[in-house]
Amino acid sequence: MTTNNEIALCIDQLVKYAEQNLALSTFDTNYVRNTLLDHFCITAPNTVELPETIEIQSIINTLIAYGMANGLAKSDDVILYETKIFGMVTPSPSVINNIFKTKAVTEGIECATDWYFELSKANNYVRMEDINKNIMWDHSGSKGNLVVTINLSKPEKDPAQIAAALKAKTGYPACMLCTTNVGFAGNAGHPARQTLRIIPTTINNEAWSIQYSPYQYYDKHLIALCDEHRPMKVNQDCMTRLIDFVDQFPHFFLGSNAALPIVGGSILTHDHYQGGGKGLPMFGACIKKTYKSPIKGTDISIVDWYNSVVRVTSKNKAKAIEAATYVLDKWAVYSDESVEILCATDAQHNAITPIARYENGVYIMDMILRNNRTDEAHPFGIYHPTEDLHNIKKEGIGIIEVMGTFILPGRLDKELNEIAHYIDGTNAFDYDTVANASHPLTNHKDMIKSIIEKVGTENTNEQAQSAIRDYINTTCEQILECTAVFKNTDTGRSAFDRFITEGLGCK
Ligand SMILES: [Zn+2]
Repeated sequence: MTTNNEIALCIDQLVKYAEQNLALSTFDTNYVRNTLLDHFCITAPNTVELPETIEIQSIINTLIAYGMANGLAKSDDVILYETKIFGMVTPSPSVINNIFKTKAVTEGIECATDWYFELSKANNYVRMEDINKNIMWDHSGSKGNLVVTINLSKPEKDPAQIAAALKAKTGYPACMLCTTNVGFAGNAGHPARQTLRIIPTTINNEAWSIQYSPYQYYDKHLIALCDEHRPMKVNQDCMTRLIDFVDQFPHFFLGSNAALPIVGGSILTHDHYQGGGKGLPMFGACIKKTYKSPIKGTDISIVDWYNSVVRVTSKNKAKAIEAATYVLDKWAVYSDESVEILCATDAQHNAITPIARYENGVYIMDMILRNNRTDEAHPFGIYHPTEDLHNIKKEGIGIIEVMGTFILPGRLDKELNEIAHYIDGTNAFDYDTVANASHPLTNHKDMIKSIIEKVGTENTNEQAQSAIRDYINTTCEQILECTAVFKNTDTGRSAFDRFITEGLGCK
């Protein structure tokens, strides 16, 4: 049983932690301590000296357990309650914004964003403890390094949780990206956001905000979101914003998902972009060929990557925007029936995933050519992973993956361990048994068969695991190749060249 004195001590340590890590001003210390004492119904504050080091997670866990045992939490959702407590000690959005602005002026924009990143981790908005559970490895592929992540940080919901989530939905906030999320208490259908502090920023004379992604799929993964809830649109304004952003934040990249289903991201209803540290695999790819651009002061190249990437570069900001918009508009209406590219049928199919960077005085815009057409043979999409790859990835391939960073579902962790037991001979593999629809590994039957054909079953568990990873690595390369509108064949390469020369008028 935790005593009142122990809780008062935890409260004092939490306040101290907030002073040290969350920019809580000592001017606000008494105010915040009293708020916490009131919440936990403690009448006498702590009087003993604080220990040297503060084990923040253990302190928070003690407070959560105490609050729940005494009926102070609204629900039994630990994360909702933890977010509420951390939210109480995180300074208000205006305070955080003022510190950010001062740092940007006095120490530079990179120092300011680094500080904001540390703050986002320190109040558990970015839950590093969960993110570190992810299984991650690198694969040195034929066109560069790929990063494969099995996502264990976001537990998949069970049916009861999904039903509760649907029931709890009120339509407010309108979506996960709306600025109205700041301070929101959360419910079964929408995460708590009391620890969210967004940084207002002006992009191309419009009000936008940045925040770090709670999922951190790559280093310093951030989201830029429009302050207005309006649909995604990839047009000239989008090109201007991406370039304007990297002008203001030259240490980050910023890119947009294509604005069409299948080839776009999961949220098309709120205008937003993904950005962050410039370590994504595609950025390391070489240039295959550079052409003479019809727009003076710009270069247009083909990038040597798995899918179809046109790179626009310029030292001049306005020219970079002009050339990127030019490629966007030309691709929107470009068809080449000889390689089955139809820009539109009953609806628009051609789209672009644009990604901007600023390097050594040069604006770089990588334009990944996409198409979301489906046909009878490819109901999921012609440029979507084929069905034999769906056991690894079935969902749309958005901006993060198209650049070579794969986020695979958490269920794979358990499944792959079970598959390894067939490869190391622990369990005998019978194709028909596993192929039965009720078998838990039925989706993986062909994968298991193929790995056994290659390496047999007399393997150590370690060798089995490694053979499985090899299979996944090859699959990820194949998935990227599926998204290529111009295939890496003689026909595909000359069709790509034709788009650049005839479609774009380059020489
Ligand atoms: Zn929204």
